Amino acid sequence: MQNVCVFCGANPGKEPLFMESAKALGAVISGASKGLVYGGAHVGLMGQVADAVLEGGQKVIGVIPQAFAKNVSHEGLTQLHVVDSMHARKAKMFDLSDAFIALPGGFGTLEELTEVLTWAQLGFHQKPIGLLNINGYYDALIAFIDQAVEAGFIKPQHIELLRVHEDPTQLLQLLENYQPPIAGV
Ligand code: AMP
Repeated sequence: MQNVCVFCGANPGKEPLFMESAKALGAVISGASKGLVYGGAHVGLMGQVADAVLEGGQKVIGVIPQAFAKNVSHEGLTQLHVVDSMHARKAKMFDLSDAFIALPGGFGTLEELTEVLTWAQLGFHQKPIGLLNINGYYDALIAFIDQAVEAGFIKPQHIELLRVHEDPTQLLQLLENYQPPIAGV
């Protein structure tokens, strides 16, 4: 596991804890001598996690669509890929990464997380996926997933595609030890 992709809010969130957690996750990634792949912006949790990995001396690769590269690109990254579309961005982030972690975020974060989960469920990849559940932020999503299993829309074995922890060090360890469940439709 060399490069960890982080999906997270382009906003800082209202509680200081969210920015602090992004910083802590970045420090854990760099402390484990791993690189970061992310959406390339300098704003919100995105900028915070990137800065923390750079401060730890590890490489940070950003992937950003042309449409907003000019306004929100982080200028200090090791590498910045400017791509044509959001779809191209997600494909590039996927190709460059060995694991995925979602921090708190909104629609963009949910979309990125559920896409890699969907691909894993279909057996298109076996890369580990983690949810950093800061202060119960994702409890409602976890409850929804349980409900979808109960209702017969998610297979029980596919719950294991998503590893959840509130502590970044423990979460990274879960991803390092990840054994993919049997996937497939
Ligand atoms: P959200 O969770 O809605 O804040 O969206 C954050 C995710 O969507 C990030 O992981 C980015 O890949 C992408 N994204 C959304 N808004 C922006 C933005 N203003 N700048 C860069 N990336 C963004």
